Amino acid sequence: MVGGSPGMSRVRSYPTVDAEEQALAPEGSVRGLDRVLQLQEVDLSIDRLTARLRELEGGEELRSIRAALGQAEARLGELRLAMDSLGREQRRLEGDIDSMERKIQAERRRMLDGSVANPKELQAIEAEVRNLEARKSHAEDLVLEQMERGEQLHGRLGPLEAEEAEARQRLANLEEGSARELVELERALGERRAERTALVQAFDPDLLELYEDLRRQKKGIGAAALVDGVCQACHQKLSPMYIDRLKRVEGVRRCEYCRRILVF
Ligand SMILES: [Zn+2]
Repeated sequence: MVGGSPGMSRVRSYPTVDAEEQALAPEGSVRGLDRVLQLQEVDLSIDRLTARLRELEGGEELRSIRAALGQAEARLGELRLAMDSLGREQRRLEGDIDSMERKIQAERRRMLDGSVANPKELQAIEAEVRNLEARKSHAEDLVLEQMERGEQLHGRLGPLEAEEAEARQRLANLEEGSARELVELERALGERRAERTALVQAFDPDLLELYEDLRRQKKGIGAAALVDGVCQACHQKLSPMYIDRLKRVEGVRRCEYCRRILVF
């Protein structure tokens, strides 16, 4: 087995035009040769439809739009939580301010209504009132800060809600579109496969096997037309001598360069 042999590859090697003719067309005619380009066209169409089907089923687009929606929802959720907690804190502070204000009023009344005569006690009440006023003033500053912060948060709410709604709409459109396209793809694939099944009945099994082997090895293209001496699969110009030999062949003709089946 030194050096190996080309015959070891999966595709049988057809070293010469004559050998092919003998292998596939002992009587000089090969069933299906006149329809091999039609089969090639159907097969490429099936390949394209299948690839698109896998793409849709793989759901890359759906995954990415779902992720975008998830992120928008998460950001919106965080914002709403922050706004809620700010609102609660603000109401708590406002409640404190109210009660401090009532306490201040009550202490002032006590100082003025003559119910407290002891100067030390009056001084203590005065100090308490000053203390309460300082605390109340601080709480009012905090409320102002929180109102500003609340306005900032509120300003972010509209754009985020719009972003979330847009992502939701895109997802709905995509899901609907994908479902429709899936139905359409499956219908088209069914038609093309039926067409193929009918078509291959007319093929010599050896020709079909050669064509399918070539398709597996050569990017889905097993047969091509020869136009003005140029193979339409590999785009090489065949030599006049080789074309002359091909013309004398009744059976399967193959490209001098890419070895695909050629149709004149
Ligand atoms: Zn070629």
